[in-house]
Amino acid sequence: MKIAVLSTDPTLYSTKRLVEAITQKGHEAVVIDHVKCFLLIEGENPAILYKGTIIEGVDAVIPRIGTSVTAFGCSVVRQFELMKVFTTVKSQAITRSRDKLRSMQILAKAGVQIPRTVFAKNPAQVNDLIKIVGGPPVVIKLLEGTQGVGVVLAESAKAAKSTIEAFFGLKANFLIQEFIAESKGADIRAFVIGNKVVAAMRRQGAEGDFRSNLHRGGEGRAIVLTEQEEQAALGAAKALGVKVAGVDMLQSNRGPLIMEVNSSPGLQGIEKATGIDIATLIISYLEEKIKTDEGDTVGV
Ligand code: ADP
Repeated sequence: MKIAVLSTDPTLYSTKRLVEAITQKGHEAVVIDHVKCFLLIEGENPAILYKGTIIEGVDAVIPRIGTSVTAFGCSVVRQFELMKVFTTVKSQAITRSRDKLRSMQILAKAGVQIPRTVFAKNPAQVNDLIKIVGGPPVVIKLLEGTQGVGVVLAESAKAAKSTIEAFFGLKANFLIQEFIAESKGADIRAFVIGNKVVAAMRRQGAEGDFRSNLHRGGEGRAIVLTEQEEQAALGAAKALGVKVAGVDMLQSNRGPLIMEVNSSPGLQGIEKATGIDIATLIISYLEEKIKTDEGDTVGV
């Protein structure tokens, strides 16, 4: 098979590992920078032009779409779908998982437990917003933030109010969430492929930081999930239709609470923490599923 990794940078760990795994399994690997693709929109012959040539002969794509290019990246994935090329994650699933408000609505509807969260567009009743999520303390998150940047812990009502007002003033989109103190600066990343959790790690934030992001100095350790955590991860990935997913959750007194489902989850942290060859597992999944390409199951 000819398998394309959609990635803007062939030197990234995840891209390199996928290319390695594709090659080791006897397939041909190509890296396509989705940002540099031209999409030829035509009823009968949808095509993609890349570096001056029409892309042909690709059997499957593995999208690794960065958050800064979600919209165009998804259009490229969609174009491959129109060309009947198998993708490990459908464009619609990427779009929905990237939209924090929409994904939380889908998760809640599917019965997946999430931290109490409020979205607001209007600064009128800031005190009510804080109260609704049971605060203070509350967590305030910029919707466009990644890797923990733009995630603020407001310990007092005063701090929460000024942060919320500042974000409103900047016309930023954000959410306000109950603070899960008992997670103690740690969260869980479960790596889901198909209907299985293939690896999981607990990430502990750097000393004094409530955020456990590895990019912020957090540390990942392999763990075995409880049955409840495993079901939460699988339920979240299924609800959003993300077949290869990094599901983030907090351990709370009332069980696991899902924070986010990542549709282009990084391989470095999880492979390093668990020693599991996730890249090869993704290719094995692709080999199996390409025969029976399922339709989109987002939101069902
Ligand atoms: P990003 O998507 O930017 O990584 P997250 O929503 O994952 O932002 O938050 C970053 C980190 O902050 C999480 O990994 C977790 O450790 C911590 N965190 C986020 N939300 C909460 C919360 N409601 N209660 C406690 N800790 C939280």
